[in-house]
Amino acid sequence: MNIVQGHTGWLEVICGPMFSGKSEELMRRMRRSEIARRRVQMFQPAVDLRRSSEEGVSQGGLRTPPLLVSSAKEILDFLEVRTEVVGIDDAHFLGPDLVEIANHLADMGKQVIVAGLDTDYMGRPFEPIPALLALAEEITKTLAICVQCGGPAKYTQRLVESTERIVIGAAGLYEARCRRCFEPGVPRQQQLDFVKPKPGKVQ
Ligand code: ADP
Ligand code: ZN
Repeated sequence: MNIVQGHTGWLEVICGPMFSGKSEELMRRMRRSEIARRRVQMFQPAVDLRRSSEEGVSQGGLRTPPLLVSSAKEILDFLEVRTEVVGIDDAHFLGPDLVEIANHLADMGKQVIVAGLDTDYMGRPFEPIPALLALAEEITKTLAICVQCGGPAKYTQRLVESTERIVIGAAGLYEARCRRCFEPGVPRQQQLDFVKPKPGKVQ
């Protein structure tokens, strides 16, 4: 899987739905790079409140905690010249600017590993992952387990009503579903309301 690189730059993308182990896989690769005595830097969007406030920043076994960035461009500000491996988690929060920056880092000779959602709550391709997939040397798709049927899940089901593309949250707000069980734009509450008697209404 993880092909040993020479001195040329390299872009790897790990993508899939929420709960599919993207962060775990990214951390695994970063830890292995540290074991190989390569200089690593890990970046996370500051908007990921799941980690930055509620649970604290998860170091995932890395020697140094991830750097929180509020935009893709900030990665270049924090980048150390001698860094050989750049890890970027939750790439979907960094938007289309990340495409040029990740590609630039690979052109500079860095090994760049990007993890993020490939589709949004409607099942639509979610920038910047689609463009990064086209530019990458190596691609890994991770699948979660469908909470409805136990099958392999590639969709992120939103459970609350919102047409915002980004609604930050984890368990309770989202769940993993397979192609058959996925209902784009239909929160669970709406389905339950359909079968529940209306308040005050005599049946
Ligand atoms: P991602 O970065 O893709 O959101 P994480 O690496 O943060 O995923 O979390 C993966 C872990 O989430 C799994 O190892 C498992 O323990 C847990 N998990 C919770 N719900 C599910 C699910 N529906 N399918 C698979 N793993 C799940
Ligand atoms: Zn299913």
